[in-house]
Amino acid sequence: MKNKIGSILSTICIFSILSQSSYAAFTIMTNFLGGAAPTNAVGGGNLQDIFEEAAGFWESIYPNDTHTLTLDYSWATLGSGTLGQHLFQSEGGTPNRETAGVINFDNSEDVVFFLDSTPGDDAEYGNANAVFRNFGAGLLNTGYILSDPTGSAIGNFDLFSIALHEIGHALGLSSGNSSFQNERGDNDIDVQSPRPYAGSVLPIDDTTAHINVSIPESLMQPFSSAGERKLIDTLSILAIAEISELDPYFPDYTVIPEPANITLIFIAVLTLGCFRKKQLKSS
Ligand SMILES: [Zn+2]
Repeated sequence: MKNKIGSILSTICIFSILSQSSYAAFTIMTNFLGGAAPTNAVGGGNLQDIFEEAAGFWESIYPNDTHTLTLDYSWATLGSGTLGQHLFQSEGGTPNRETAGVINFDNSEDVVFFLDSTPGDDAEYGNANAVFRNFGAGLLNTGYILSDPTGSAIGNFDLFSIALHEIGHALGLSSGNSSFQNERGDNDIDVQSPRPYAGSVLPIDDTTAHINVSIPESLMQPFSSAGERKLIDTLSILAIAEISELDPYFPDYTVIPEPANITLIFIAVLTLGCFRKKQLKSS
């Protein structure tokens, strides 16, 4: 009996330690506020599952940092070709970071969204291309694009990519964020130590708080294309890490392949220019 009580106590202690450590982490708190989903959406999934998956993905990018960001999100009528929108609400802490924001997804049915019922895998896309460029401190990954869609993903706009993009704004690429305001002025972000790739000069658009349109493959450039998915690239991770002073982790797919493959990757990306483009807005 005593042993059993001891075992129960130690189990409780383990749970207590685990739950304490979950607070000392990089946490995105999400609140779904509703709104009507567009009736023309396809894929069988829903915004809540997709947004949770996207938030979890970003949490995994900064595993060593302690920060809590609260995001309210909903379906709303944005129109004018805007598929997603981030609105800055508040910031704070040392280093300064956004602490609360709002993200809206367009339900005006101007386009057809692909609502992936399994956003944790990319099985609906048959091809993947990683792109690399040098901004002054060595080649780094600037985009990871999944193409060759199947089923409902064909010809439609991937809501998972849009959710990743809008959450990226809330993590630092936002005109409302005073850390971003301090860095902007010359349309670039200067990466400094202790960040990796220190010395790199990352091209951005000061006005819209995006990665510059000259890097179309990046998640955080301002346009979305039908029939493809973009995952989180090193360029986006690094720009946010510099603005919000975060310690980044780079996913395996961002690792530079053999030099012979890089030329092929560039050719593959050039062919993507013919896709229809829609804007992703932010403030
Ligand atoms: Zn944007």
